[in-house]
Amino acid sequence: MSNQKQNLMEKIISLAKRRGFIFPSSEIYGGFESGYDYGPYGVELQNNIKKIWWKKMVQERDSIVGLDSAILLNPKVWEASGHLSAGFADELVECKRCHKRFKAKEVKEKCPYCGGGFLPPRKFNLMMKTYVGPIEDETAITYLRPETCQGIYLNFKNILDSSRLKIPFGVAQIGKSFRNEITPGNFIFRTREFEQMEMQWFCSPYPSAKGTPDSEKWGPEEWYEYWKEQRLKWYLDLGIKKENIRFKEHKKEELPHYARKGTDIEYKFPWGWEEIEGIHYRGDWDLGQHSKFSGRDLSYFDPETKNRFIPHVIETSAGVGRPLLAFLIDAYQEIKGGRTKTTKPTKEVEIVLKLHRYLSPIKIAILPLVKKEPLIKIAQEIYQDLRRYFMVDYDEVDSIGRRYRRQDEIGTPYAVTVDFETLEDKKVTIRDRDTMEQERIEIKKLKSYFDEKFF
Ligand code: ATP
Repeated sequence: MSNQKQNLMEKIISLAKRRGFIFPSSEIYGGFESGYDYGPYGVELQNNIKKIWWKKMVQERDSIVGLDSAILLNPKVWEASGHLSAGFADELVECKRCHKRFKAKEVKEKCPYCGGGFLPPRKFNLMMKTYVGPIEDETAITYLRPETCQGIYLNFKNILDSSRLKIPFGVAQIGKSFRNEITPGNFIFRTREFEQMEMQWFCSPYPSAKGTPDSEKWGPEEWYEYWKEQRLKWYLDLGIKKENIRFKEHKKEELPHYARKGTDIEYKFPWGWEEIEGIHYRGDWDLGQHSKFSGRDLSYFDPETKNRFIPHVIETSAGVGRPLLAFLIDAYQEIKGGRTKTTKPTKEVEIVLKLHRYLSPIKIAILPLVKKEPLIKIAQEIYQDLRRYFMVDYDEVDSIGRRYRRQDEIGTPYAVTVDFETLEDKKVTIRDRDTMEQERIEIKKLKSYFDEKFF
């Protein structure tokens, strides 16, 4: 990583800590294994990402439903899914001298710490093992799930039997996953505990006449292309710059054991292009394997064509942390000389987090121009009213300029200022974070003004 890019990461990490987005986990004990905690603004940002994903994937679609399945599953699930075999393992090398371990594909001949040579590579399974019940023996071993999607396949029949869904349809789930990563790092990019937002799309295995506009008749290839585009659009609609995001199609030999086709959505992080979401065409691997291992028939009967088949699956699999980091980096801007118009040039650098307003942790800041009555009372009334609908911050400490800057730094898109004119005209000023334009609005119209902006 170049110095400038290294510097950018340091600035993001420092802003995230200073303003309460992300803290190192167990910090007072010296941290723990590259774990992180989301602070007051971080948890809002994270929730907003999940909310918008759910809105776009479940709420606004006819044929996708939600699920929240268990983290601990019957260990047989992981035999069937292939996770306990070599399929879910990384090649690991160990330094002969300092015994540090690395992913084989991330190092060359010598240990980057001490320059020692490596022992021959061996496979390292990424499953997090644990025991259920009081006796820690072989029969009590199970695993924390490394992905959320298996719970969806296990409930395929339950969902079908309890709803009026017909193929094609999808099931979406958001939840924690765990992987015993060999080299966690790059801040929240790779951690051992992380959240995922996954959707499994069950469709007919039969290829359609290519290009048919009738999506009911689409085969897996068309759905795969459709979901790639939909998912890329989600990031672009939320403001990720076009030049910082791309597809990377996997070659056959790079595909995970379950996939027939795969594409990563990659973001241009300061240290290089990396995956933030994977879209996979998984064929009949999942339902086929679980039919075989459980002895339950997970096939589907199509009442129209009278065909019985194991549905094919297209999966969209995003993290929460990695997209969150991409949104933070993409939104981070430094404005040299400050944004506030002054006659004298200043050396100050102002930070503005240009997050999409749907993502911003705080939507509206309510600021009395000065800390005086009756401005405080009016500002408080507006605050108490709007907080019932939006995440709102009230701030009366320091000069108005400093308060604007504090809000810019956490990405608040709108600031409402109560000034002396308010006493006369019952209007307030709304300042737009990005254009810095100011608009006078009647207090009683604030709720509908912001409804338009946020829904
Ligand atoms: P990588 O090759 O970078 O380890 P992967 O191909 O194993 O990633 P997938 O199994 O496709 O990742 O997981 C889907 C998504 O889940 C990823 O795009 C990422 O956003 C998230 N994810 C996976 N592993 C981690 C991790 N260790 N830490 C944070 N997020 C993760």
